Amino acid sequence: MYYSKITSLKINFQTIFVLKLTDMQTISSYNFEGKRALIRVDFNVPLDKVTQEVTDATRIIAAISTIKKVLNGGGSVVLMSHLGRPKNIPEDHLSLKNIVPEIEKQLGQKIQFASDCIGDRAFEKSSNLKAGEVLLLENLRFHQREQKGDAGFAQLLAKHGDVYINDAFGTAHRAHASTTIIAQFFPNDKMFGYLIEKEIESVDKVLNSHQKPLTAIVGGAKVSSKITIITKLLDKVDSLIIGGGMAYTFAKALGGNVGNSLIENDFLETAREIMVKAKSKGVRLLIPIDTIAADEFSAAAATQLCDTSAIPDGWMGLDIGEKAIVAFTDEILHSKLILWNGPMGVFEMSKFQEGTKAIAYAVAEATKNGAFSLVGGGDSVAAVNLFELADAVSHVSTGGGAMLEYLEGIQLPGIAAILND
Ligand code: AMP
Repeated sequence: MYYSKITSLKINFQTIFVLKLTDMQTISSYNFEGKRALIRVDFNVPLDKVTQEVTDATRIIAAISTIKKVLNGGGSVVLMSHLGRPKNIPEDHLSLKNIVPEIEKQLGQKIQFASDCIGDRAFEKSSNLKAGEVLLLENLRFHQREQKGDAGFAQLLAKHGDVYINDAFGTAHRAHASTTIIAQFFPNDKMFGYLIEKEIESVDKVLNSHQKPLTAIVGGAKVSSKITIITKLLDKVDSLIIGGGMAYTFAKALGGNVGNSLIENDFLETAREIMVKAKSKGVRLLIPIDTIAADEFSAAAATQLCDTSAIPDGWMGLDIGEKAIVAFTDEILHSKLILWNGPMGVFEMSKFQEGTKAIAYAVAEATKNGAFSLVGGGDSVAAVNLFELADAVSHVSTGGGAMLEYLEGIQLPGIAAILND
């Protein structure tokens, strides 16, 4: 895979990196023999509150191929990451030491740990690394200079490696020291890891491929948090499926009675504008025909199936209904490219997860039939994992906010820092 170093070109809303074969390094072609690779990974993994053990190793597993590429190529690896939101001082429960056993398990070898990410002890450890060895640095955010994007801090971190690899897509939208600022200290030896390469490739495939139809499925709680992405997507997609809590603002904008469902009255006009824009662009906009309504926001609630436009007073829509599932599934199965962000209902409660589950299965089925599917955004990723379908879709994005910003056409600083001189 090749990227150009030239600046990006805006076509519609999506940034396309013009493929010009230049001297830019790629992880596939780089010679790691005798080199120390400093890899920014996203090991911001959930930990059990009591045992401090990793409860979901997805992000660690996702980084393994990049780490192994360096090790198998005769190099050594220094890993750096943040974990949680420490208040700029060391906090035991946010120490990356907690995740050492999980990394060793996934990597199949012992690793070393430095109890600070800078400082003499850390530099001594990284400079003594032998080929095939791995060192994990302590949580970067124990230093406030990390999030401030401090150049002096980045320069210190840079001492750990001969080559810099950014494989942390989840933080690529942040101009932090380790994700962006550091790249300038490796003018000829900076590159993406396999994970970021795949993220970029997947978004570009969905938004810039000429394959059709392209269906976007947008769900989740609120219109307000997804409005930018919805508006941008209208320029691209053939069909737009709206589910989750935000669907009720659309239903109300159409004059329906939505009872106590989640509504953003400030966005009724926006919803109307989206519907008008979709029509003028020939985009098929689908909102759920029917709804599973509940008498309270609770796993123990009484439920009834009703038309989304006729939810009784006092009841609230918490999942899409049977007819909506059929209509959405049909649309998905006829798609060649699929983008999914946000659940169809309150899938955290088993009573209201059928809609999200059905959509996950439909996306998996379409993928089996040859469609390319990209699932991005925290809760839809959690949903495909819950239904054990992560392997049945083409790509599950590891970056929630970064994914959305990239889809919106914003040039992410962490990506720009590698691409630009
Ligand atoms: P978001 O972070 O915007 O993607 O929203 C995800 C959240 O939306 C999940 O926690 C869901 O439980 C919630 N959600 C989905 N559908 C509904 C709904 N009909 N009413 C209230 N919350 C919902």
